[in-house]
Amino acid sequence: MTEVINVNSRSYRLPSAPTIVICVDGCEQEYINQAIQAGQAPFLAGLSAFGTVRTGDCVVPSFTNPNNLSIVTGAPPSVHGICGNFFFDQEVQEEVLMNDAKYLRAPTILAELARAGGRVAVVTAKDKLRSLLGHELEGICFSAEKADQVSLAENGIENILARVGMPLPAVYSAELSEFVFAAGLSLLTNERPDFMYLSTTDYVQHKFAPGTPEANAFYAMMDGYFKRYHEEGAVVAITADHGMNAKTDAIGHPNIVFLQNLLDTRYGARIARVLLPITDPYVVHHGALGSYATIYLHDRERQRDVTDFLVGIAGVEAVLTRSQASQRFELPEDRIGDLVVLGERLTVLGSAADKHDLSGLTVPLRSHGGVSEQKVPLIFNRKLAGIDNARRLRNFDIIDIALNHLA
Ligand code: ZN
Ligand code: ZN
Repeated sequence: MTEVINVNSRSYRLPSAPTIVICVDGCEQEYINQAIQAGQAPFLAGLSAFGTVRTGDCVVPSFTNPNNLSIVTGAPPSVHGICGNFFFDQEVQEEVLMNDAKYLRAPTILAELARAGGRVAVVTAKDKLRSLLGHELEGICFSAEKADQVSLAENGIENILARVGMPLPAVYSAELSEFVFAAGLSLLTNERPDFMYLSTTDYVQHKFAPGTPEANAFYAMMDGYFKRYHEEGAVVAITADHGMNAKTDAIGHPNIVFLQNLLDTRYGARIARVLLPITDPYVVHHGALGSYATIYLHDRERQRDVTDFLVGIAGVEAVLTRSQASQRFELPEDRIGDLVVLGERLTVLGSAADKHDLSGLTVPLRSHGGVSEQKVPLIFNRKLAGIDNARRLRNFDIIDIALNHLA
């Protein structure tokens, strides 16, 4: 193996011990805090004695795909191109799903580590991330969701259900994430990959607030696996793709600003298209509602007027032009719309009311997408070396820290 690789203008030392980078989907820091207070996360509670606990910023929009791709490329969306699940493709005049690797504009650290001779394994909860994370990766890569369909040719491994000893989990379940950790442990103790990337789903965090019995049980489950990885001698690095907040009023009704309805009513005709990049094939637990929206104007002359109108709406935190948003959040200009709208902490942004199916919301809405969900944990089972305490950390610094800056 070569000693150092260069990916997207950063260099990474090849791992000297098995290194596991974990993206806990929707891990608002308070979940860990509350689980520790309840005595349900003893490993994380004791970790500061020998490890590191810091807070970092995720990428905005605080959604799953932009952040997972930022973590595995070590770069913001302006470099890798994935800034949501959907964008409006001006060339074909269509809303396009960005789940395909053809939209990825940068190599992943995972693929480059493997190319340099490292043995790399990736396990994700939902299958939607697999093709992006596994792009050009020579190694093991599969999802818990389709664990019954893995093959040596496609996924670099087989018989994973039998090995893990769990039944195929339902797509909306805590077990889908548990399967990721159990599979990770099986890989660690058998294949012992040099580098593993494990990515969960935020089903639990969308449904349950920090400190609830269900949330604490989920964090207790994870804590147990973190401890096992640690005992196996692995470097364990934990972060999140984004946080999570309640998006309701005092009695649990969702605070929703339906942007398309508001614009249509105000201007009397369709002068703009509202596109919600959170929309994806799995919307049951959030109804495609998050605190980030993009707007494509049919008539750009109206941009100033539309901005002034939207800024005055309760629950809207900010309205940014394409260039303001792409600079502030390091986003690819060609995939974000003329305006970017951010919801306040307690508010989500919808398009038109009849486009959202809220029947799956059996508990008060919890979601993400805005700046209010930008704070995420950065946790390591080793002390940090050579990083200033005052430096702003990003979740996509995690592989750099895990490979280059741990004692
Ligand atoms: Zn997520
Ligand atoms: Zn989510």
